[in-house]
Amino acid sequence: MPDVERVPTAAVGGEITPRGVMSHVMQGWQATMIRWARERPRVTPKSAHFTIGRDGRIVQHVPIRRQAWHAGRLDPGEPPRWSLLPPGANPNDYAIGIEHEGFSGEPWPDAQVQATIRVHRWLFAELGLVPSEETVIGHFVTAPASRAADPGPTWPRARILDALRDGDSPAVLTRADYDRAALRAFLGVREHSYRVREDERWQYIEIRRPMPTTDRASRGG
Ligand SMILES: [Zn+2]
Repeated sequence: MPDVERVPTAAVGGEITPRGVMSHVMQGWQATMIRWARERPRVTPKSAHFTIGRDGRIVQHVPIRRQAWHAGRLDPGEPPRWSLLPPGANPNDYAIGIEHEGFSGEPWPDAQVQATIRVHRWLFAELGLVPSEETVIGHFVTAPASRAADPGPTWPRARILDALRDGDSPAVLTRADYDRAALRAFLGVREHSYRVREDERWQYIEIRRPMPTTDRASRGG
């Protein structure tokens, strides 16, 4: 990516065909991953294409058409839930990995949100990806049990998708940007969801299912 810092790592594999961009939360600090990237000759077998600091610092570690090592471990007995991943495939062969500094559940600073939007925008243009919940993904889609909280309930997926779809300059992050799909995965529930109200209380909501309701109405009940 042009105009970003580069710290290449030796933790890199062969050529890949990215089908989506997977976000992670580090449960730690960007400096740690930069240190791992610089290690020679010992190699920590963990890497991401990009790391993004809480202050908005963007560092690229792996070329986007080479494999980074961020999502290779699957959950035994819990198959991946990513429709674009071929059966039995290694997610690292199909997903760009972005590691975000911080801890699951902590609010994301606006500088970090703006930086991840910038990286997503460049990646989507460069790779010709179409923004959707299948291309803007979190680690929880391929490791639904062990990584249910990665990147966690404060991952601003809705904000990222809005920015990719509108092409507008993203506004300041608000509490309402907390992503419902990620929160749902975090809480392990499917039929209902929550959102964070302006007063920071969680509000229980039902997931809307417009199709069956419309069908029933059109058939006259
Ligand atoms: Zn992860």
